[in-house]
Amino acid sequence: MGVNGANGHLMVNPKYLNTGDRTDIYLDVIHELVHVRQFMEGKDLFDTNYSYTDRPTEVEAYRYAVEEAKRLGLGNERICDYLKTEWMSGKEFEQLASTVNVHCKQAQKSG
Ligand SMILES: [Zn+2]
Repeated sequence: MGVNGANGHLMVNPKYLNTGDRTDIYLDVIHELVHVRQFMEGKDLFDTNYSYTDRPTEVEAYRYAVEEAKRLGLGNERICDYLKTEWMSGKEFEQLASTVNVHCKQAQKSG
């Protein structure tokens, strides 16, 4: 799931929509809607001056998703699972979790 940097449209892989975990999809929608709002405010969603987990637009989007996850009553472990993606390094994952104030044990090996 992502936002098109040219027109601000939300893009979703239909396979993910059909087979993905519903909670993950819901939290992704929250995350991406933050980016849609940021796009409408004229922010650069792909500012290459920052790494992914340092980029202010990403940090804000993750903060909203995590806040919603906590409101839903998800535990830290489940939220950590959500934050961990296969293309994020262990170090980036730890940094992101710490930035959004979620206590994750440590980077789990992917796979
Ligand atoms: Zn994002």
